[in-house]
Amino acid sequence: MSTVQGRLRIAVQKSGRLAERSLDLVRDAGLRVVKGNNDLLYRVENYPIDLLRVRDDDIPTFVADGVCDLGIVGENVLEEGRNGGPMAEVVMPLGFGRCTLKIAAPPALDYAGPASLQGLRVATSYPRVLRRWLEAEGVQADIVTMRGAVEVAPRLKLAQAICDLVSTGATLEANGLAARDTVLDSQAVLIRAPTAPEPALAELLDSIVERMAGVVASQGAKYVMLNAPRSALDEIAAILPGAGAPTVMPLSGRDDAVAVHAVCQEAVFWETLERLKAAGASAILVLPIEKMM
Ligand code: ATP
Ligand code: ZN
Repeated sequence: MSTVQGRLRIAVQKSGRLAERSLDLVRDAGLRVVKGNNDLLYRVENYPIDLLRVRDDDIPTFVADGVCDLGIVGENVLEEGRNGGPMAEVVMPLGFGRCTLKIAAPPALDYAGPASLQGLRVATSYPRVLRRWLEAEGVQADIVTMRGAVEVAPRLKLAQAICDLVSTGATLEANGLAARDTVLDSQAVLIRAPTAPEPALAELLDSIVERMAGVVASQGAKYVMLNAPRSALDEIAAILPGAGAPTVMPLSGRDDAVAVHAVCQEAVFWETLERLKAAGASAILVLPIEKMM
């Protein structure tokens, strides 16, 4: 049960790489966020909800303990927090905050797979994730835990390799390191407490989760409208990227042609439009989708 009577709590990163997108998601779900007089807590003025703004490392514990009902955090942080105790439940991936936990080493290290790390020292800020990966690979290596600046460990002779988060690889390169293996692909996820909130808030919690799912699903999705000869319907439906069964409607005064409407879950590129046109489609419109449920 939530610790604050009568209000739901959502844990978000206070500042950092996930902070802005987390707040966007909350706002896109229809919550009007107002800054309180204290930096730790933002209030939602149109629902009994507070945002707890904390360091991302604290979010999995807050949600697992039910101090917060929902949280937004990177899978990397969630996995590192896995310690055999109660866990927050992952509701869904959110499509932002993508990064990869990678093994990297100076080019001089001969790397032919995880076994090449046998007996070496590997520096990381993710000792538990790395330990599990090494165990799964059947490799014994020493783990040097560092809070930050992991990429300097090989130069300081603290370790022969590192296991660190990479998005572009520029930091690795600047430190004379090359990525060698992938330990974990990560993105931000929505997590929820394993315990239900007080009954009066359960419905609100479910509806917030459903709205967030709608926001995530509508990101990148497009609404496509076009006219098509009846004879080309199958071909055209097959070209529409990531669409379910399209809606087909008659065109007034035309027996040979129909209007086709479809929600495409994938990007609709110019090439797709050209293929649709070549298949006989005309008056093709591609529209952004704001909400989906
Ligand atoms: P905090 O002060 O909240 O502890 P932090 O310094 O641990 O912040 P950030 O650097 O803001 O964390 O990163 C937050 C999360 O963003 C990471 O845990 C990861 O899930 C994600 N992320 C995305 N790209 C990267 C990247 N290139 N490097 C590090 N994290 C990334
Ligand atoms: Zn952190």
